[in-house]
Amino acid sequence: MGIKGKMGWHLKIDKVSKTLFQATYRELMNNLMTQSSNVDEVNRAMQSIGFKVGETLLMDYADKIREHAGEFVEFANTLQLAYKVNSGQEFTSIWISDDQRVIKFTDANCPICAGVEITDMPGLQYCAILSGVFDAVMELRGFNAEAYQESCKALGDAVCTWILRLR
Ligand SMILES: [Zn+2]
Repeated sequence: MGIKGKMGWHLKIDKVSKTLFQATYRELMNNLMTQSSNVDEVNRAMQSIGFKVGETLLMDYADKIREHAGEFVEFANTLQLAYKVNSGQEFTSIWISDDQRVIKFTDANCPICAGVEITDMPGLQYCAILSGVFDAVMELRGFNAEAYQESCKALGDAVCTWILRLR
């Protein structure tokens, strides 16, 4: 995709206030915490919500993405672009395993975790919604793969990381 295509897509995306998004997300998380009996349940519930969000995003943007990922490893580029379009920033780094079956996205300035500090819920994946979005995109594009969050800034890690792995 050339630069012209990227800009055209960028301009068509509606924007929403970051504060509004973060506050809504925080209340959604609070709600899940209240309803769940343990951290794993919260993580799973948020990832399921992310799956639904991913389905909507993919359907909405399907006609705007000119080159879908044909190979698993191409998600490194298409998801970087989708992340930029939806969050206004890029992943800090992307790592691909030698066998091209694992992609690792890192964000040192995760917009979901910004300003959030959780010290009493070890194992919580605060921005697990993204794992669910990745799950949906990979499944709907026909890949047998899974996503999970490896580290989370809100919990005190230096960066947020998500792993995408072919099964
Ligand atoms: Zn995060």
